[in-house]
Amino acid sequence: MRILITNDDGIDANGISALADAAAAFGKVSVVAPAAQQSATSHSITLHKPLRIEEIRPDWFTVTGTPTDCVLLSGKGFLDELPDLILSGINHGPNLGDDVTYSGTVGAAIEGAVLGIPSAAFSLAGRGSDGLAACLPFVGAIIEQMIEKPPAPRTYWNVNFPDLPAGGIQGVAITHIGHRVYQDTVVEKIDPRGKPYYWIGGDTPTCDLEEGSDFRAIHDRLVSITPLHLDMTDEPAMAELRTREWTTR
Ligand code: MN
Repeated sequence: MRILITNDDGIDANGISALADAAAAFGKVSVVAPAAQQSATSHSITLHKPLRIEEIRPDWFTVTGTPTDCVLLSGKGFLDELPDLILSGINHGPNLGDDVTYSGTVGAAIEGAVLGIPSAAFSLAGRGSDGLAACLPFVGAIIEQMIEKPPAPRTYWNVNFPDLPAGGIQGVAITHIGHRVYQDTVVEKIDPRGKPYYWIGGDTPTCDLEEGSDFRAIHDRLVSITPLHLDMTDEPAMAELRTREWTTR
């Protein structure tokens, strides 16, 4: 089993070491991760500048690009063998509900699914590193499940852990994507030259604790596992759209 580890917080993040350590029990681990912070880069790739790769220690490589670049390079022959499993994270911060579309951590898992390799994204719903230890037994259980019965083609798993001390996590919930409620997430200030500037991310957004959602699982001290599709087609809407007259003007 050849396991590729990446993330979006950059190769120096504590979360990626924790994930690499947990994965080492299951096969040969290669870490290919962004050289710098790449959070909220979603599924973006670098097209207009070259990518540089540096091996900083055996089987640990930095890439001057996005998490998706890391997976793309690794899945297209940069490593001696193609990975059998792609694990992204453990992200410092949650990737829940509507926010999954912003996430570089999730973007890497999306790219893995595009390449046809079983993939999962892992995030800790807290900014520090103390909660990582409590996640690790669950990371092991999830990797075991991925090997035994991988996500179906063109699907991947989004995993979030509650930020709790060892022994605090109560179990696993299989969830659907929930909804964030945004409040004042753009802040306007005036720069020293009197011009306005804007900063995204104001007050902490609140979320809907709907039963069965990923937000609810984290609130209930459970690991949230959400199976996701690459296919974002709104199937029921197709029939209705076909009934319309698409008159040219
Ligand atoms: Mn991140």
